[in-house]
This record gives sequence, structure tokens and C-alpha cells, in this order.
Amino acid sequence: MSAHDLIIVGAGIIGAACADAASAEGLGVAVVEPGPVGGGVTAAGMGHLVTMDAAPWELALTHYSLGLWESLRELPGSEYSRCGTLWVARDDAEGARIADKQARLADAGVHAEAVDAARLRELEPELAPGLAGGLLVPDEGVVYPPAVARELVTRAVRRGATWHRARATTVGDHHVVLDDGRRLHGTVLVAAGCALPSLLPELPLRLRKGHLVITQRYPGTVRHQLVHLGYADSVHGDEASVAFNVQPRPTGQLLIGSSREYGRVDPGVSMPMVRRMLRNTFEFLPGIRRLNALRIWTGLRPASVDGRPYIGRVAGRSGIWVAAGHEGLGVSTAPGTARLLVDQLLGRRPAIDMRPFDPVRVAA
Ligand SMILES: Cc1cc2nc3c(=O)[nH]c(=O)nc-3n(C[C@H](O)[C@H](O)[C@H](O)COP(=O)(O)OP(=O)(O)OC[C@H]3O[C@@H](n4cnc5c(N)ncnc54)[C@H](O)[C@@H]3O)c2cc1C
Repeated sequence: MSAHDLIIVGAGIIGAACADAASAEGLGVAVVEPGPVGGGVTAAGMGHLVTMDAAPWELALTHYSLGLWESLRELPGSEYSRCGTLWVARDDAEGARIADKQARLADAGVHAEAVDAARLRELEPELAPGLAGGLLVPDEGVVYPPAVARELVTRAVRRGATWHRARATTVGDHHVVLDDGRRLHGTVLVAAGCALPSLLPELPLRLRKGHLVITQRYPGTVRHQLVHLGYADSVHGDEASVAFNVQPRPTGQLLIGSSREYGRVDPGVSMPMVRRMLRNTFEFLPGIRRLNALRIWTGLRPASVDGRPYIGRVAGRSGIWVAAGHEGLGVSTAPGTARLLVDQLLGRRPAIDMRPFDPVRVAA
């Protein structure tokens, strides 16, 4: 039997960030992860660090978390690149939304520059002619999420945390049972991504499948993370959807996303969905038809029932906390989630309003 201040079940980007933040506070941390660290959906995502503003909770959490990413940029292997986000408006109706978005970001303290159609083409010459304009958020960037997760756990282990390469079969009040028969004692944090309901059935998830395509190396073809200004519309609907979202990797490759589908949990690639995604991409970037794709893969985003992550104490249980259900924003929001969770654990006042994320809302 071993006793720990905090037992973290799952070491994707969320569990890893929590291990880092808790160990930095001097807590005795045990990480339970069969491995590899960061090998879940964290290895399948795009790694775009982005402020999203569709709802006040989303703006508060992403903005707070991106501030904390500043101190993680230099982690070995993170492949951090401050490429900026360029939101692209397809037509004048979308162009009319730029000022509102810019104002919402400015209210939160995020600097963003509106760009007209000519400047848009200057910034990204491969973009199709006739697009209405855009909004440049210059301080945003991209990382390689599984490498960040590995490094965060390594850093926690250097501070004394232990990594148990096992699967948790049960979480109970102040304890975790592992599949090798061991039993760990301490406060429990469940950060098991899509596996959350298998450990805490009272916290359901909706898994949301996504496809990504990566090309061979074409350095300089695209310079910013490009995202359709209407991206949030596709995020918030229930229908299967695709949205223009293209990322320049530091390797010179282009990462092309993305699709969203509920109710599809098989990992297989759907070529009709890939074709739909690429047709949409070519409308914005016609020239990239000539590039060679190297690989296509899928991942399942862990979405909570209302789209807001579960961060906090689990109601009706003793000594069990949760950090999961971050859907398509888990990388952006990982350090923020970790800081807010650890502040609550230590009885400190968190930096933002945590009521939207309180898991008690689901039971209610
Ligand atoms: C196509 C796609 C694109 C995306 N793009 C972005 C993006 O650009 N920006 C962004 O911010 N987010 C993005 N995301 C979302 C992001 O990847 C996720 O929100 C994030 O990785 C979730 O991390 P996690 O730690 O909760 O889950 P995971 O990474 O899945 O980690 C959970 C871990 O728990 C472990 N585990 C499970 N069950 C147990 C158990 N019983 N015992 C012990 N361990 C267990 C697993 O092995 C796993 O390692 C994208 C996702 C997809 C699919």
C-alpha cells in the first residue's frame, strides 16, 4: 500500500499538465498511465493554441490558459512556433463579424488585427482570390502535444512524482485499484480522457471523431494557422461537419483539418469525410491540390454533455476530482485546467469563475 497527495489517472496533455502543476507545488504525485504518455487523443490533435470566444467561459478559460503556455514554450521537444492565428472570412457577411470578434478578444486583453482582402493575400499568398478579409491574432502558436505531455511528466518525475505503468480498474473514495492488483491511496484526479465514464459513470461524454491529413514538406506554403471565421459554427452544431483549418508545422508540413462527427467511435478513416474536408480546404487554398499527402488519421475528442470541460471535485464522492471532457480545446486549455484544479485542491481562489466547469452541474 502506498499513500500519495494526488493520484492522477491518465497522462494525456491534461493529466500531464496536472502532474506538473501539482508536483511544482510540492505535492507527492502518482501518475497512473499504461502508456505511452500523451498517446491518447493528445497524439491525434493539431496542437493549435488558440483563444476561442464563442461563450464567456470559453474565452475566460482559453485566454487564461494561453497566458500560462508562455512558460511552457521552451520545453524540450515542444516544437513551439509562434505562427499566429489568421481567421479567414469567406464573404462580406462573414467579414461583418470580424469587428465583433476583435472587440470580444480586446475586452479579454487579446491583441488582434483586422486585415482587409489585400492584406490577407499579402500575409498568405496561397489563399484564394475573393476572400473578404480576416483577423490576425499574432501571439498565438502551435506545439507538438504528445512531446509536451511527455516532458511535463518527466519534469514531475524529476520532482519526485512516480509513474505507475498500469491501468486503473476502479477509482474509489481516496483510492485507486490498478490492473496489476496494487492499490494506491490518496486524493484521486481522473484525467482519463475518453475513458472517463468507465471510471466515473456519473460523468458522461460524447465522443466526437475528427480526421486530419498531413502533407509532405513544403516550407513557406502557409505561414499562419489558418482557420475559417465560421469555424465555431461547426464546433457548436450536432451535425457532422468540416471546417477549414490548416497549420504550418515547423517541419514544413501542412496539417489539414478537420472534421467533427458524433456517434462514430471506430478509428477508421472515412474517405467520403476526407474528400469533403479537402474540397472545403481547396476552396480557401486552391494551390494545395498539387501537394502530396503523407498520412491521414483520426482521433476521438472527449466532449462533455454541454461542451464545457469537467474540472473540479466530483459530487457525492469523497476525495475524487476530475479534469476531462475538453473536446477540441484540451491542448490550449491544459495548463489553465491544471492551475485551476490545483488551486482548488489547495483551497486557493482560482483565477477565473469555476462554476461553468463544476461537475456538479451534470448530476443536477
Ligand atoms: C482531430 C483533432 C484535432 C484537435 N486539435 C486540437 C487543437 O488544435 N488544439 C487543442 O487545444 N486541442 C485539439 N484537440 C483536442 C485535444 O487533442 C484533446 O482535447 C486533448 O488531447 C484531451 O487530452 P486528455 O488528456 O483529456 O485525453 P487523452 O490524451 O486521451 O489522455 C487520456 C489518457 O488517459 C489514459 N487512460 C485511459 N483510461 C485509463 C485508465 N483506466 N487508467 C489509466 N490511464 C487511463 C489514456 O491511456 C490516455 O493516455 C484536437 C483533437 C482532435 C481529435
